[in-house]
Amino acid sequence: MKVYKFGGASIKDAPSVKNLLKIIQKLPHKASLCVVVSAMGKITNALEALLQKYWNQQDCEDSLLQIYEFHHKIIKDLFLDEKEEIYKIYEKNFQTLKALVAKPLQDREDKDFDALYDAIVSMGEVFSASIVSYYIHKKTGACTWIDAKQLICTDSQWREGNVQWDATLKNIETKALPLLSKGIVLTQGFTGGNAQGKVTTLGREGSDYSAAIMASCLQAESLTIWKDVPGVLNADPKRVPDAQLYAQLSYAEAAEMSKYGATVIHPKTIAPLAAKNIPLYVKSFLYPSQSGTCIDNTEARKFLPSIIFKAQQMLVRIEVPPLHFLKEADLAVIFKIIDKLGLRVHMLYKSAREIHICLDERPLKLKALQRWAGENFQIEVIQDLEMLTIKDADETTIRRITFDKQIVLQVRESRLYQALIR
Ligand code: ASP
Ligand code: MG
Repeated sequence: MKVYKFGGASIKDAPSVKNLLKIIQKLPHKASLCVVVSAMGKITNALEALLQKYWNQQDCEDSLLQIYEFHHKIIKDLFLDEKEEIYKIYEKNFQTLKALVAKPLQDREDKDFDALYDAIVSMGEVFSASIVSYYIHKKTGACTWIDAKQLICTDSQWREGNVQWDATLKNIETKALPLLSKGIVLTQGFTGGNAQGKVTTLGREGSDYSAAIMASCLQAESLTIWKDVPGVLNADPKRVPDAQLYAQLSYAEAAEMSKYGATVIHPKTIAPLAAKNIPLYVKSFLYPSQSGTCIDNTEARKFLPSIIFKAQQMLVRIEVPPLHFLKEADLAVIFKIIDKLGLRVHMLYKSAREIHICLDERPLKLKALQRWAGENFQIEVIQDLEMLTIKDADETTIRRITFDKQIVLQVRESRLYQALIR
């Protein structure tokens, strides 16, 4: 049994959906397959924009129309006959979205932005799952969509639901596993459900993680993530034109790369696969016969330095008054507040009187941090930075990548080089 995950770019229009079908039809006739799909194209961004308008009490009509037309065109291109049931299914799902933003915000008792986010933004995957599963079913005679809300259980942490593994395993074993012998099982990525049956999401780009959860609970022989790149490269080819492909990576290497900001795989994807020793293939949906990258428990044999850029970073410098020194107790309170604010620390440097901390840029949380620190310390912030990480760094690579950058802070620890740059 295999799990295939298709991201937004791989189902962005009707020809892409047809291409998806070709890829799954290459599997041997009786092989079982679970498919996980993201929202089509850039629909998640469009839904975020819709929510923002609704929240700001602006007119939502244009946003709704844009989302409607986008999917409607794909359906029309896939199904010439307008009597196909999918047209009705789509209208019904679209009404659900419309209803979510129909009530004026001031009349709602439940004014929780994050809960609304999950209800609204998860609709992108409802549209894609309904359309793609209908199309596969039509062409193969056997594809069932199981709503991810009924499979992946999370707590009620909106926008970043924590998976409840025991309940999830039970759901997948009882609801998805039996259907796999009858045909393809398809489910949405990015989506979960809490104990009250309310929809939750797993964080932006979280469909990879959904696919890993499915693979783990189904004890799949492998997971393949189909992308618009040939596999995992040692750098973003838009930034480093001679980026090269890794044929093989260990779980540990891949997990670290995504932690430093490599966007090719969602950071939470690796652990569930590694725990069950399930290989992860990252392959191109444009050139499906190419081997791509295999990530498994083989010890790393990579010699290429990985070059990773992470945007939207800020550097916070916290200082104690002259003739004072930063004490361990100071560090403890600083990190406690950072943790409380839910900020993530990506780089650190400490001297006698000051600590420099690189954090994700979050304006509101920064204000809270400044308010708090102002009472105890002096604080200075540099915004609009990018973090550069070079793993397995050598002098030549560091020079080649940084020669035209302004470096605000750099740290080097044996083979790891990190810098905040502009
Ligand atoms: N559609 C969601 C997003 O764009 C989840 C995903 O694509 O993985 O963030
Ligand atoms: Mg997406």
